[in-house]
Amino acid sequence: MATEQIVEPTQEELDALNAELSSRTPQEILRWAMDRFGDGLILACSFGGISGMALLDMAVKLKPDIDIFYLDTDFLFPETYRTRDRAVEKYGIRPVAFKSRYTPEEQAQEFGDELWRSNPDQCCALRKVEPNRRALEGRTAWIAGLRRDQASTRRDVQPVSWDRKFGLYKISPLAYWTEKDVWRYIFANDVPYNPLHDQGYPSLGCTYCTRRVAEGEDSRAGRWSGTGKIECGLHK
Ligand code: SF4
Repeated sequence: MATEQIVEPTQEELDALNAELSSRTPQEILRWAMDRFGDGLILACSFGGISGMALLDMAVKLKPDIDIFYLDTDFLFPETYRTRDRAVEKYGIRPVAFKSRYTPEEQAQEFGDELWRSNPDQCCALRKVEPNRRALEGRTAWIAGLRRDQASTRRDVQPVSWDRKFGLYKISPLAYWTEKDVWRYIFANDVPYNPLHDQGYPSLGCTYCTRRVAEGEDSRAGRWSGTGKIECGLHK
């Protein structure tokens, strides 16, 4: 576990880093982050998105014992757990699950039935944001699969940023990759991916808040459909 005291960088420091890293490959960015942050670095992989799976493959090839976590909201698709199991088998990894302090039953009792309908922001805060905070405790940087082409809210993603919400660096090695780039990597490297992507689910989260998308729809249109919500609160 990290012991380094991390200090928020200035905007100039971040700009200089990104000017240097934005022309590098994702693997080079990962290598830089591993050298810079050592054991303070942790990889987030949801076993839902293709970006996370590509990053997992790259990261494990560079550092087989890299620390990995995922958020188990208790509402994941069975296919997501199966993708996790396939990754465990293929890479020999030991991803750590972080769960809400509330079981689904306790959440219903305390905050009402179907909180994902009545107040999805609160539901995500309880089942994603708070466990994510615990997962990042004592860390100096985390790696996430954000890409600029995923959503309008992600258009400015940089390879390195300061994550104010959680108080550490956030590394996004795929910031400049497109969905096509990720698929190309997945097929070229035989990376396991969630089979629901082949069944009309380009973006996956919890069962209650993910629907199939129609041909031509935005890839994240199936997340929190009809609520106006587009992010779970981890990245915005
Ligand atoms: S995605 Fe939906 S079910 Fe999952 S934590 Fe957020 S609101 Fe709750």
